Amino acid sequence: MSENYYGNYVSRLIGELASLPGIGRKSASRLAFYIIGMPEEKAAALARAIAEAKKNTKYCSVCCNITDGDICPICADENRNQSVIMVVEDPRDMAAYEKTREYKGLYHVLHGAISPMSGITPEDIRIKELLARISKNGASEVIVATNPTVEGEATAMYIARLIKPAGIKVTRIANGVPVGGSIEYVDEITLQRALEGRREI
Ligand code: ZN
Repeated sequence: MSENYYGNYVSRLIGELASLPGIGRKSASRLAFYIIGMPEEKAAALARAIAEAKKNTKYCSVCCNITDGDICPICADENRNQSVIMVVEDPRDMAAYEKTREYKGLYHVLHGAISPMSGITPEDIRIKELLARISKNGASEVIVATNPTVEGEATAMYIARLIKPAGIKVTRIANGVPVGGSIEYVDEITLQRALEGRREI
């Protein structure tokens, strides 16, 4: 804690808020004062929402999406094409593809990408779970929709090398997504085209 002008409790709140991504000390102070100014019940509801979301959230036992049940709503939907799996880095990428309403298969969420530079190895992301799932349930196609970054491409190649020997078609989304970009921020039409233009790798 660098500065303590307001007493321990407020400084601690600012410190916690400042540890969140994208929140600098200035924003953290602004939020902390806003929270302190809230009616007590509102502030308590915020604290409860944080604690309960954390406590009740787990990974889907099939696709590793974030959910509050054993299986997420997408995996539980029997109308979806069970034989196609789209591999994404992040649950928000899955949400972006869902918004296109074009894709009707299932997903697999890796929770990251392989990055030797940052010390993230294949064991650190959910590749094991993908392989186990495919060997159990099979798949006709695995669409690798990791981000078009160095890490995303390396992850795509790694996954293709593991899965292709099993005779499963592995495709990569087309280049509609800008290189170095993040799927989460790409518009729906571009994502739809990237999906339609996927190629076997
Ligand atoms: Zn799921």
